Amino acid sequence: MSYDKNNIFAKILRGEAKAEVVYENKDVLCFKDILPKAKIHVLIIPKREYLDIYDFSKNATDIEKQNIFEAFESIISFYKIQKSGCRIITNHGVDGRQEVPHLHFHLMAGGDTGSMTKNS
Ligand code: 5GP
Repeated sequence: MSYDKNNIFAKILRGEAKAEVVYENKDVLCFKDILPKAKIHVLIIPKREYLDIYDFSKNATDIEKQNIFEAFESIISFYKIQKSGCRIITNHGVDGRQEVPHLHFHLMAGGDTGSMTKNS
């Protein structure tokens, strides 16, 4: 998979497609997933073009990396889920079943997100 400038998140970043933005900082945009898999389901994406977590880990600046974590903190505070918690995941490549070729973290919360060690 390679970066495709016409992916939907690139269009959202360019203002060519709409999204329900809940937070942004200099390097990061956070918006609601169009097909939420939890009561709260926010996508957290870098504003620069990074294909996946490997590309970002290898090539992003320290400030961009810090600002991803700043966004996690802000979203958790915004939804007041510091105590109840959340799940944050990123899908990478074919085996990770990544569908949109622009790095994104899924933050899911607002109820039990299910066990990752049992089939329930
Ligand atoms: P992936 O499988 O790549 O990790 O997740 C892609 C996510 O993007 C899915 O949860 C999907 O619902 C979401 N998504 C796909 N198209 C759009 C869109 O146009 N707008 C928003 N807000 N989310 C989208």
